[in-house]
Order: sequence, then C-alpha cells, then structure tokens
Amino acid sequence: MKSALLQTSQLTKRFGGHTAVSDVNLTVKQGEIHCLIGPNGAGKSTLFKLIVGTHEASDGRIEFAGQDVTSRRPYERVQRGMSIKMQAPSVFKELPVAQNLHIALQHHVRKSELAREEERLLALLDLAQDASKPAGALAHGQQQWLEIGMALASNPKLLLMDEPTAGLSPEETHKTGELIKRLNREGMTVLVVEHDMAFIRQIAQQVTVLHFGKVFSGGSIDEVIADPRVAEIYLGKKHEH
Ligand code: ADP
Ligand code: MG
Repeated sequence: MKSALLQTSQLTKRFGGHTAVSDVNLTVKQGEIHCLIGPNGAGKSTLFKLIVGTHEASDGRIEFAGQDVTSRRPYERVQRGMSIKMQAPSVFKELPVAQNLHIALQHHVRKSELAREEERLLALLDLAQDASKPAGALAHGQQQWLEIGMALASNPKLLLMDEPTAGLSPEETHKTGELIKRLNREGMTVLVVEHDMAFIRQIAQQVTVLHFGKVFSGGSIDEVIADPRVAEIYLGKKHEH
C-alpha cells in the first residue's frame, strides 16, 4: 500500500464564531493527484492555507513526510518538501523567463547544475521558445506554467495548487492538466484545490469533497462523480423522493 505523505487529523479553523474548517481528516498518499473540491465557501482555500501554514490551526494536527508540522512556519514546511504554486502571480514580470527560473533554482541546485535544470524546466513547461522574453510578455497561461516551474525548483515532495486554472482558456486549462499528469508520472505528489469539474475529471485520482467546512465525501474520481449527493451540493438540487 502507498504510504501517506500528508495527513490531517481533526483539523479545524475557526474565525471568531465561524468554523471554516471542521474536524477534517485528509490523507494524501505518496504519488497521487488529489483534488480538493466543493462549492464556494466550503472551506477549500482555508484548508489549503492550514496545510501550507499561512493560517494557524485552531485545533487538530498536520503530519507531513512523517513529521508533525502543525506548529511549523510556512518556510519550514517548504524546507521539508512542500511547494506552493501561488494563485496571485509571483513572477518577476520585467525579467526574462529563464532568469525567473534561475532565481527560483539558485538556492536549490548546485551552480554546475543550474543551466541544465533551467533547460529541463523550460522544456517541461514548453517555454524554451520564450526563454529570453520578459515574463510579463507571456500569455496568462504561460505565466501560470512559469509559476509551476518556479514551484518545482525546490524539487518538492508535494506540489500544492489553489485553483491553478483560474482565468485560463479551455485549451490552457487542458494543457495545465497534461503538465500536472506528466509531473505525476515522473513521481510528483500533487494536491489541487479546484472547482472546474472538467479539469478535475482530467487529472484527479483521489478526490475529497468539502461542504460547510467538513469532509462530505471522498474516494476515487469515479466514485465521487457517481455519487448523486455530490452533484446535489454542486448544483444545489434537492433530493427527489
Ligand atoms: P472556498 O475556498 O471553499 O470557497 P474559503 O476557505 O475561502 O472557501 O472560505 C470558507 C469560509 O470561511 C467562508 O464562509 C469564508 O467567508 C470564511 N473565511 C475564509 N477566510 C476567512 C477569514 N480570513 N476571516 C473570516 N472568515 C473567513
Ligand atoms: Mg477558495
């Protein structure tokens, strides 16, 4: 059996009187693409922030790569192998694409390997043609892929993404999915928060459905799609008896 890379137990986040994430037990296994889905306001982004450490847990526990990281600072979680593709652009728009990757890589790889790693990422991201363009001149989708490349620079154990397809065209969304699947085939474990069902069907292996801050359902993508209760919370349909 595959081992758990990330495990939350009774993870809870309260904002004043409001419980945004409630007793969440989530397991992301080594080597899987795991999607966190649920309607607007379900608590997905809050759970994501608890995992990466930008929110402090009110209760519960987070284990990552065999260690309790519940009280660890975000950078300490990164040191242990988490990497986050930010939703807001964090690329240096005036600098060339290759330079952006260079900056992301320089703290993580030996100087002698920098050029090779840079080329590897440019090819992976399909950005080799645009290596010398300022990042700001790239199409929106390409900037998102550059972000993913920068998140990969630390050679993480777990790649975390909150709505990586926000603002992308259907073609760009599909290409992002193929990139994630390729990374996964090469061994990367991925946790993605998403609401685009077509994209989820394209990439997800395991799915956890959040609703009102709680785990509503979970399992393989096929199981979750076949569950009429999941369609209900998405479409807001009432049960027909
Ligand atoms: P999702 O990402 O699934 O749309 P969120 O995690 O953003 O949901 O939000 C879950 C709930 O928590 C919402 O009711 C939201 O208003 C609330 N919430 C999120 N962040 C905060 C915050 N910083 N302070 C107070 N309430 C928050
Ligand atoms: Mg959100």
